[in-house]
Amino acid sequence: MARSDREGLGASLSRFSHHAALELPRFYLGVENPYNAATFHVFFSSSNVAKQIQAIRGMNDCLPEQSPVWQKVEQTLRQVVASYGYSEVRMPIVEQTHLFKRAIGEVTDVVEKEMYTFEDRNGDSLTLRPEGTASCVRAGIEHGLLYNQERRMWYMGPMFRHERPQKGRYRQFHQFGVELFGINGPDIDAELIMLTHRLWRLFGIQDHVCLQLNTLGQSEERAAYRDALVAYLEQYKDELDEDSQRRMYSNPLRVLDSKSERVQEILVGAPRLFDHLGEESLAHFEGLKTLLDTAGIQYEVNERLVRGLDYYNLTVFEWVTSSLGAQGTVLAGGRYDGLVEQLGGQATPAVGFAMGIERLVLMLETLELNADIRPGVDVYLAMVGEGIASAGFQLAERLRDALPDLRLMSHCGGGNFKKQLKRADKSGASIALILGESEAQNGEVTIKYLRGQGEQQTLKVDAVIALLAVKGE
Ligand code: ATP
Ligand code: MG
Repeated sequence: MARSDREGLGASLSRFSHHAALELPRFYLGVENPYNAATFHVFFSSSNVAKQIQAIRGMNDCLPEQSPVWQKVEQTLRQVVASYGYSEVRMPIVEQTHLFKRAIGEVTDVVEKEMYTFEDRNGDSLTLRPEGTASCVRAGIEHGLLYNQERRMWYMGPMFRHERPQKGRYRQFHQFGVELFGINGPDIDAELIMLTHRLWRLFGIQDHVCLQLNTLGQSEERAAYRDALVAYLEQYKDELDEDSQRRMYSNPLRVLDSKSERVQEILVGAPRLFDHLGEESLAHFEGLKTLLDTAGIQYEVNERLVRGLDYYNLTVFEWVTSSLGAQGTVLAGGRYDGLVEQLGGQATPAVGFAMGIERLVLMLETLELNADIRPGVDVYLAMVGEGIASAGFQLAERLRDALPDLRLMSHCGGGNFKKQLKRADKSGASIALILGESEAQNGEVTIKYLRGQGEQQTLKVDAVIALLAVKGE
């Protein structure tokens, strides 16, 4: 991705200019540095050349070469949620800090160490949203969308978390999420998972993701379990890693998904949440599993799956992949029946998920499933001859009128035929249309195939339109 480019030359440059004085002796000593020439330039011209400003670490540009994949992904997501009758909701990117503290929970990674929180000019504490569910619930309550109603909503957009940037983990990243209110399930939980399964099929990654499923029961059931778990963990207190020791009392369920091998070994003999669940919770889980079985969706029950945010109950699930290294969770979600009330609304059952779009895009790139995603231009119009530009533009506009979906780039800036063809090739177009003086006089255009799909031919404009219309289908 773009980040890795910047981590290369760009990052070296910025590090150098930052520590220019320190780097200088090494430079004189001729210590090998692949960017010597460039750093020399930055160092010695810093007084009269404006310093290059870089994007914030972990916040990526989506460059023109990458945006077709993103557009394709976004288009597919929109199409699928529409096919389930869900409606889009767009929330602000900034909210009051205590919304996230109250919704996500004080003792979570996100609230403890990842939020971008700042004071605005009025002295109010605001936070760049680290996730969408809290804002969606806030909006739902504020506008009376949830009271005694069913709502099926989705959103897509940037989220912000101050984490250590690495592959699949960024400080500004994008989530696509779905939130459904007013339905107890487990049928709606199953539908949500079917929707995600449909996404994987459409993206062609269904064989590279696997569904992990668990139930967290209700909060009373968890409270009883919590005591049993803490009592068990206390016997091993000194062997737990620092994070788990800290969480043991503040948020003991989080110890279950500790990454430490020793902690996982200790947990083998730990009491199970399953044994503390009542009939209703178990029936909900069984109901969900039956619906998934009949839909042919495979899953693995993972009793250690607890999810990082506090608001979940009953169903929790994650779609994980092994093709992204450590950042293996592509999509995660679950039921959060208590959140609406916790944020000041009437008690309303709810279930949702969020997907990391960067992780999905990375998967498509890693698995080379982005090959058929078209570049931005289909046809390049070359115009050769004195005063041909006005005829050229007329032709281009006529083509756009007739073929609104055609992506046509007109040559601008003059230059000979060879130069224009080079531009045509670089544009990614598969067809060059050539308008020379004789073509212009005869109401014709020459078609040249740039990717070897046929012979060059000169046709009347109407015939060209008909031909492009067929190709565009
Ligand atoms: P992780 O365990 O990877 O930190 P999480 O449990 O914090 O994930 P959620 O809050 O459940 O993640 O967010 C849902 C999805 O959003 C994740 O499964 C992932 O695909 C994506 N996501 C979360 N944090 C990031 C990030 N910093 N950069 C890119 N994608 C992210
Ligand atoms: Mg996280």
